[in-house]
Amino acid sequence: MTEPIRVRWIPYKKLPPNSKLVTRKTRWGNKYKMIKHGGKYSREECLKRFDKDLDRILLRNPHHLDELFGYNLACSCMTAGELKMKDYKHSYPHCHADIYLDKIKEIRKRRLRSG
Ligand SMILES: [Zn+2]
Repeated sequence: MTEPIRVRWIPYKKLPPNSKLVTRKTRWGNKYKMIKHGGKYSREECLKRFDKDLDRILLRNPHHLDELFGYNLACSCMTAGELKMKDYKHSYPHCHADIYLDKIKEIRKRRLRSG
């Protein structure tokens, strides 16, 4: 099976195949907003807070992310490839979808091991 990736969603365009939308308008969005989007956090801070919340949710419900398993995740953030092309300095993770994909990978590995 190919590893799911983060893909770019362009508003009003069709979603890339085999992907699920995780933008703020969906229930998978990151509720923490960056300063440049009218919020009060840096990108890094938004992602840290999101990551912490997600860990808490997964403790309560280990199946929280199951319905995203196997899908590419689409967000309006630029992909690593696009960032590179624009020569932006960026660190990983860049988007909350990166965090989802990492967690999903971890969970699936753990489940495979425990049978
Ligand atoms: Zn994003």
